[in-house]
Amino acid sequence: MIESFAYTGLPCRILFGEGVLMRLRAEVEALGCSRLLVVSTPRQAAKVTRLIDSVGDCVAGTFAGAEMHTPVAVTERAMAAFAACGADGVLAFGGGTAVGLSKAIAWRNDAPQIVLATTYAGSEATPILGQTADGLKTTLRDARILPEVVFYDPALTLDLPVSTSVTSGMNAIAHAVEALYAPDANPVSSLMAVEGARALLSALPRIADDPTDRAARAEALYGAWLCGTVLGTVGMSLHHKLCHVLGGSFALPHAETHAVILPHALAYNAVAAAGAIAPLAGILGDDPALALHRMAGKLGAPTSLAALGMREDDLDRAADLATTNSYPNPRPIERQAIRRLLQRAWTGASPGAEPL
Ligand code: NAD
Repeated sequence: MIESFAYTGLPCRILFGEGVLMRLRAEVEALGCSRLLVVSTPRQAAKVTRLIDSVGDCVAGTFAGAEMHTPVAVTERAMAAFAACGADGVLAFGGGTAVGLSKAIAWRNDAPQIVLATTYAGSEATPILGQTADGLKTTLRDARILPEVVFYDPALTLDLPVSTSVTSGMNAIAHAVEALYAPDANPVSSLMAVEGARALLSALPRIADDPTDRAARAEALYGAWLCGTVLGTVGMSLHHKLCHVLGGSFALPHAETHAVILPHALAYNAVAAAGAIAPLAGILGDDPALALHRMAGKLGAPTSLAALGMREDDLDRAADLATTNSYPNPRPIERQAIRRLLQRAWTGASPGAEPL
């Protein structure tokens, strides 16, 4: 029997497929914009220049200074660039870092946003903004933050390094896993979560084999969109809390941290959420946590917090930070068990070695 549920769809227009950028100018006009500020990381600046050559006079200016975790000081500089060039909209070219800056601008001035997505993290599909000031990362959710239009052109991802492809793909799979056991999970978000995870699990090994495999790139991007959409639709739990703590308070890299923690967070919840995660057996086998841990290792993703530079001495504080406030999770948050989880993740031990 289908139980009662609530579902709110996100009003975001998606254009997917190779060559879809041909429609960029029409989409800019449909939004009523003619003067875009293009934001990116420094690493993608050269590609932005080539993009501008093709879309020409609807670009009023560029800001290639986006930084991970969206520092407010960087946003203030980008806001000044937006005003200085008389922009009427933002175009983000990149992954979660460029998109974070675009969202931070739109949250402040309600500018329409267009995103050309180039990683698999899924940020472009959510109304969520994480930003940092004075060493503290805070997260907020607002309708102004959700980009109006997202382009997913697999051609833009052909040069995404295999390492970033795998870790940002695992970041997306983490959204899907936690969506399945979210307190507000519903049949629609769960369908998208399973299909998104399936697409990424199929695509990532093929991308690792051949980064120029266009079919695999397209399937990964499709999975990224679905996983990002469920992140924007339902609430997240232990896994995202741990990654927020490890990234925000110990400066660990975002996507890599997700890749390390996901198998352990899933193992922690596996019994309590057995019914909700049952569909994962169809794509990951009988022990999804172990399968994810093995996949990360096989595809060259980091599998231990130690490899990311986390100090063992900091594990106690991380456990404290992750257990101080209560939040929804299938299994109650027990400080000692979370500390054991972190120890296991730190050493890179297998998630299923013994119950936490
Ligand atoms: P990223 O955007 O930081 O990109 C990683 C690196 O790869 C950067 O140096 C970037 O310049 C480069 N890069 C990106 N695309 C490339 C391409 N196609 N070719 C070559 N290089 C490329 O990585 P990410 O994992 O997408 O984003 C991480 C950030 O996104 C974090 O700050 C995280 O908090 C945020 N995030 C937010 C949400 C949300 O909903 N708010 C969701 C997921 C991630």
